[in-house]
Amino acid sequence: MGQSWQRGPVILSWGSIAQELTGGRAGSNLVLHEFSHKLDMLNGRANGFPPLHPEMNLQRWTTVLSQAFARLQDQVFHHEAACIDDYATTHPAEFFAVISEYFFMYPNVLQHYCAEVYEQLIGCYRQDPLRRQS
Ligand SMILES: [Zn+2]
Repeated sequence: MGQSWQRGPVILSWGSIAQELTGGRAGSNLVLHEFSHKLDMLNGRANGFPPLHPEMNLQRWTTVLSQAFARLQDQVFHHEAACIDDYATTHPAEFFAVISEYFFMYPNVLQHYCAEVYEQLIGCYRQDPLRRQS
């Protein structure tokens, strides 16, 4: 369990973190999840739209992430197997937090699921976890 408060602290349950370390749900990482909410809140309420770096294209980010969010919602609605945790479909902010977990924990899964989203997160986090793995 964790919480990230706007203009407040990030609260993490040590018990939950310890549980994840010994085999939580696939791709889950509470610390990454809550801190990505925190980044998302740097420009207001968490909405899956964190402040972007100047070199990033705002319209491109919005289009790519909105389409991927809608696609995942559609897959979950139609009970199609999606390799991204369906918790991501609950809200755009949760989508950003969950794909951020995958970006760092299972970059190959995210890149395979949606290369365009993966590219946007490379820009957002200014790093490419896949390059570290190879
Ligand atoms: Zn969350």
